[in-house]
Amino acid sequence: MQHQTALVWFRRTLRLDDNNSLLTALADSASVIPVFVLDPMILSHPDTGARRVAFLYNGLRALDAALRERGSYLVLRHGNPTEELGRLAEESGATALYYSQEYEPAGRARDARVCTTLRLESNACLDHLLSEPESVKTKTATPYTVFTPYFRVWQEQAFAVPRSTPERIPTPPGIATEPLPTGSTAFPSGELAALAQLTAFRHTTLSHYDTDREFPAEPGTSQLSAYLKFGMLSPRRALEATRQQPKSAGRDAWIRQLAWRDFYYQILWHFPHVATGCFRPPFDTIAWHNDEALFAAWQRGETGYPIVDAGMRQLTQTGWMHNRVRMIVASFLTKDLLCDWRLGESYFMQQLLDGDQAANNGGWQWAAGTGTDAQPYFRIFNPVSQGEKFDPEGVYVKRWCPELKPIPPKWVHKPWELSVNEQAAVHCVLGRDYPTRIVEHSEQRTRALALYKSLNCG
Ligand SMILES: Cc1cc2nc3c(=O)[nH]c(=O)nc-3n(C[C@H](O)[C@H](O)[C@H](O)COP(=O)(O)OP(=O)(O)OC[C@H]3O[C@@H](n4cnc5c(N)ncnc54)[C@H](O)[C@@H]3O)c2cc1C
Repeated sequence: MQHQTALVWFRRTLRLDDNNSLLTALADSASVIPVFVLDPMILSHPDTGARRVAFLYNGLRALDAALRERGSYLVLRHGNPTEELGRLAEESGATALYYSQEYEPAGRARDARVCTTLRLESNACLDHLLSEPESVKTKTATPYTVFTPYFRVWQEQAFAVPRSTPERIPTPPGIATEPLPTGSTAFPSGELAALAQLTAFRHTTLSHYDTDREFPAEPGTSQLSAYLKFGMLSPRRALEATRQQPKSAGRDAWIRQLAWRDFYYQILWHFPHVATGCFRPPFDTIAWHNDEALFAAWQRGETGYPIVDAGMRQLTQTGWMHNRVRMIVASFLTKDLLCDWRLGESYFMQQLLDGDQAANNGGWQWAAGTGTDAQPYFRIFNPVSQGEKFDPEGVYVKRWCPELKPIPPKWVHKPWELSVNEQAAVHCVLGRDYPTRIVEHSEQRTRALALYKSLNCG
């Protein structure tokens, strides 16, 4: 044993399953103190949504319960992490600190401050990704900035096998802890909920994920994103569990999404400027219109474009939105409403249960055409044809915009094509029962093209 007591600093690997920081600390130390520090700087950050905080709180409770079953408990402290961890180390005599590697610029800076300030042996362990940013590189050792070649190398990696939950976690008694807060959220939190969701998904939806994933009316995706974001589910566990299923196009397509997750993390790691600016800096000079009224209508789901409104209402009501619809609403905000992608990125962070800087930033910059692997700026989603293709019967839009229920499927994505008399006959009059369009797509498309073209960014 190298240490009598070590601190295991939980941040978002909120699980006991396949937790390298915990297992390494246990191997190196006679006893460990699991600790979570609620940092007021993060809690009060404008992008920290109440729903995600509630999910976190319930996740902490679940983690504490799991620790107690193994003879331990979660020590909770409020405050600045450097000060709180320093105080806890002094109180307990701990000599080492174990935590999961962080990739976001702010988290990396925080960890660097903690490690340089505290006189503790610091150990960053690999728990959040399948492949580390430095391990998948081009032949000339540069990072990949296009997904397909990245993926080719990614899938050749020998991913680590997930490790089991320790049976006992020796923890010194009597360490002071603050009461664990409770959150109010409909979405079940914690690693047991995550593993149950993974099991349900792999036995039902996985094999036809490749086709079902595009249709927002269906439960065709895993809905594991919030668990992966908080590390309530190990990506290694998720990969292994799906690989155990018979080979199928669905299984391959799903594993590819895990690679997208790693891809955007390595972008954030190698190009931290994306956290605030465009991946391709020339796009930073775009003169976004940022019309406040249009932005507010988009937020409320009152643009008059059914697929956009349905997505935004699903987001505000549940904290989750289907990936296809995320792409559509992001394209609409940037290319139809000419609002800066950062406005949308921030609003998503406030609302999403799975709000995750790497994936969210990557998704927004992709949609805005300013990022890596971006669709070229001149490819602009048409919200009507997207709706007709991916929600042909209008089931999804009618679920979130019930005022559209009487509209026949043929017009549900373009209700303005019904005459005023036809609208009155089905009791869905635009401007009274459902908003009229706030912009006209083809006009805005021309404006967006002119705006982007003026930059000469190709
Ligand atoms: C504008 C925009 C913003 C987004 N913001 C986020 C975000 O804040 N957090 C987030 O986790 N995902 C984000 N995504 C990616 C994607 O929409 C979600 O991961 C997905 O919808 C979550 O649902 P699921 O778990 O059912 O996904 P599944 O389809 O079952 O995919 C499995 C897992 O793969 C990962 N994944 C899937 N697609 C992507 C992707 N394009 N990029 C990175 N990882 C991916 C997620 O961890 C997901 O849980 C965003 C996409 C766009 C276009």
